[in-house]
Amino acid sequence: MNVEQVYKDANALLDGHFLLASGNHSRRYLQSAKVLEYPKKAALLTDALAKMIRDSDIEIDTVCAPALGGVLAGYELARSLDVRSIFVEKKEGGMELRRGFEVSKGEKIIICEDIITTGGSALKAAKAIEALGGEVVAFASLANRGFCKRVDGNDAAKPECALPTDVPLFALDDFTFEMYAPEECPMCKEGQSEAVKPGSRS
Ligand code: ZN
Repeated sequence: MNVEQVYKDANALLDGHFLLASGNHSRRYLQSAKVLEYPKKAALLTDALAKMIRDSDIEIDTVCAPALGGVLAGYELARSLDVRSIFVEKKEGGMELRRGFEVSKGEKIIICEDIITTGGSALKAAKAIEALGGEVVAFASLANRGFCKRVDGNDAAKPECALPTDVPLFALDDFTFEMYAPEECPMCKEGQSEAVKPGSRS
């Protein structure tokens, strides 16, 4: 599967002049929710991800996603793996399990995101699960922004990666874009455009 092409076809991989949450500028942006618009296409992605996880022989009881971003990917991955799907939600300083969801002691859980940037939300989800006695055996995401090292990926983890190095991260592909500080941004220097904030609010 050509994952980058799947993202392009879904208009999930944008070209332009973007202002990232970090304050840096970039020519490309991954609007990862777009690739999950069509459930049957989403299932093809999570089937491929599930195959990578199965091939590793890691036993999984449950998929847990950090809401909101990870919920659809997590649910589809749970379907592909034929296991239970739960999600955690933001609270001050971390994440927590609500809505009657439960985790049993020693339950083997994979934390699933749609996209891993530095892995901050995934790590908060993992901490919430571990506080309840669950065992986080792996992380998964459709796309990896290249800060963290994924299983079978070529790039080493960067210092920004928040995920523990002793727990594997499964992802379909690396999407490593160049980022520029605003004062060094070549597109700003050209003066033809202003950086726009894509993100979850537009
Ligand atoms: Zn710029």
